[in-house]
Amino acid sequence: MMADLDCIDLVELTTDYFEGRLSPDNAARLEAHLTECDGCTEFVRQMHVTQDALGRIDAEVVPAAGRERLLAAFRAWKAGS
Ligand SMILES: [Zn+2]
Repeated sequence: MMADLDCIDLVELTTDYFEGRLSPDNAARLEAHLTECDGCTEFVRQMHVTQDALGRIDAEVVPAAGRERLLAAFRAWKAGS
C-alpha cells in the first residue's frame, strides 16, 4: 500500500501535476488525496483557474514567497482541524 500524501506534499507536487511531470505513482497518490481532502481540492481548483488564465504554472507564477505563504496557510489549516 502506498503511503498517504500529506497536504504539504500535495502543494509541492501540484505544479508538476498540472504540467504532466509527476510519476504515475505520485499522480495516483495526489488524486487519491484529493478524494479525501476538501482543502486540497479547493487549492488544486484555484491552481487550475490560475493555469487557465495564464496558460501555465511555473516558478514565476508561483514565486517562492507565494509558495511559503501557501505552505504556511496549509500548516495553519491543518493545525486548526
Ligand atoms: Zn490535503
